Amino acid sequence: MWQIPEEVIQNHILKDYNVATDPQLDLKGIGHIIRRGLTGEKVEIPAILYNPEETGFQGRAKWVSGFMYPLRDQAGDVIEIILIHQDITEKKIAEEEVRKSRDQLQTIFEGVSDGILVQDTNYQPIYANQAAANICGFETPEKLCHATIPEIVKVFELRDEEGNLLSPDKLPARQALSQGKPQEGVVLRARNLKTGQAHWTLVSARPIYNDQGAPYLAVSIFREITSERQRQERANFLNMASTILANSLDYYETLNKIATLVVSKLADWCSIDVLEDDGPKTLSVAHNDPLMLKFAEELTAKYPKDWEAASGSPNVMRTGKAELYSHIPQKLLEKSAKSEEHWQMIKTLGLKSAMVVPLKLNDKILGAITFISAESGRVYDEIDLEMAIDLGQRSALALQNALLYRKSEKLALDLKKAVQARDEFISICSHELKTPITSLKLQYQITERKIKAGDQSVYAPENFEKRIASTNRLLDRMVKLIDEMLDVSRVNTGKLDMEEVELDLNELLAESLSRFKEIFESKNIQLNVELGESSCFIKGDRFRLDQVFTNIINNAFKYGNSKPIAINLIQLDKFARIEIKDQGIGIAPQDFDRIFNRFERVNSIHNISGLGLGLFISKQIILAHGGRIWVESEANQGTKFMVELPIIF
Ligand code: ADP
Repeated sequence: MWQIPEEVIQNHILKDYNVATDPQLDLKGIGHIIRRGLTGEKVEIPAILYNPEETGFQGRAKWVSGFMYPLRDQAGDVIEIILIHQDITEKKIAEEEVRKSRDQLQTIFEGVSDGILVQDTNYQPIYANQAAANICGFETPEKLCHATIPEIVKVFELRDEEGNLLSPDKLPARQALSQGKPQEGVVLRARNLKTGQAHWTLVSARPIYNDQGAPYLAVSIFREITSERQRQERANFLNMASTILANSLDYYETLNKIATLVVSKLADWCSIDVLEDDGPKTLSVAHNDPLMLKFAEELTAKYPKDWEAASGSPNVMRTGKAELYSHIPQKLLEKSAKSEEHWQMIKTLGLKSAMVVPLKLNDKILGAITFISAESGRVYDEIDLEMAIDLGQRSALALQNALLYRKSEKLALDLKKAVQARDEFISICSHELKTPITSLKLQYQITERKIKAGDQSVYAPENFEKRIASTNRLLDRMVKLIDEMLDVSRVNTGKLDMEEVELDLNELLAESLSRFKEIFESKNIQLNVELGESSCFIKGDRFRLDQVFTNIINNAFKYGNSKPIAINLIQLDKFARIEIKDQGIGIAPQDFDRIFNRFERVNSIHNISGLGLGLFISKQIILAHGGRIWVESEANQGTKFMVELPIIF
């Protein structure tokens, strides 16, 4: 082995060499082992390297290990010590090669961005690169390899591609080991329970077999696909949102659809606030759990939203700028609590992360959407916020469309009603005009026939007078109708001019009433008038106000079932109120406002003549005087019209 010449063995080694005192062996650190061996102990001498230059022997450097054991006689005394040398150079070189290539492999593995994890049959990691450690939520590969399985498993909540919770048994490495087959391309969604961060990973696992062909290791390769998936998820979500929003034209339905969509994909809570004409309002709140929703309702009923708040949706609706709270500061929540009970209720909601985005169209802010994550532990980041802002814009457009649609529907309905009213008006108007004309014509036909028959009574002065009076009445009726129509067109063109003179209402009412005296008496209708004792001055147009009172009294006469009519003038603090009360057919409450519109008549009284314009014109006149007119009534119990006009002092 050492290639020592026989001559050296005989003349030097066997003569002079003493292994116990060889300084070289102490230098190599094995002197003490050899000396123990010389006492008769069995010892193993670890491998040491002999270089030719230091030993003076021939050949290449050698790795030599050794073994010493004693030979004993029958009494057990040591008679000889045997030292065996073994050249293990080849084995050492081979081991070195393996070490080198393993180090190289390790360097390569460290450099790859994919995570590489090797686990034994107990699933214990025995090798991991840095990327694998990161993906598994550990700082270093060493920490991961020294962690126990329960410690590793509790870091994450695992879900499959569809979002269903996944038991650790279904992990690709475990499947590869239990089935002895490679597992390819499994998509996993893992949420770090400590940080809330979510990851998408594509995992493949292969078993490594022992000599008996049984799997004893599993090598898993993880590829981070989070950003691709998030992008894809985002695009899918927005597509879905667009489709849903495009199919919804009802305002409230659109709001609810947005909220429901948000809680199905993005949040545990979603609420939508909108700026209505009379202020901000929460119009939709969604949560997947109806019990939580009820709880939230109780909370807001007890502690209504503070619309002046410096953060959250009130602020977003003021500024139009989105807000992101990846981790809602508990302090902020605590500060917003109005009482200890309120704080306990807020805590029950378990709010973790939130975003608020405006519902903004160009520069117009329609409202805000609030996304909140609670029990899911989801943590919103900038990418989520971007998507939420996009959803806000799309939703704003849909809401605007719904609003326009709602307006156009109302417009169409109003238009339809207006056309109906106009048609009805034309037919009533023709009828109303035709009635006096027919009477006139009839009257003159009779007269003509009498003249032709030589009937001289036609020329008798009393008959002549009667005919003129009747003709005048019929002409008056026509003039009144035409005046009403002219007044309506004056209102339409804003030309219903009003004089402004000082008037005594007492006097004016008395004058209007005097014109009815005869007709009321002839029909035996009782008129109870109470006009205050003193004068009551207002500023206004005598002719127009008389027109109002005449119209209302005339209506009381027409619709009053010939029962007594009461007229009162009451002086209030700043107003004078005129009440005209009949005991006639009455008006249903749903018609109270309608009768003051043009052409509006209550359907059931078609047998009584009128154009449905009198009250419309009256209202315009009273409004122009800074007053108001309204009605109180009960069907078949009578009607009370009230007019209030500002008094002057
Ligand atoms: P009209 O010429 O038809 O009387 P108005 O504008 O004066 O028009 O009144 C509108 C409608 O209001 C009437 O057609 C009638 O249906 C209802 N109305 C007005 N005054 C009375 C009243 N005193 N009692 C019952 N209904 C009334």
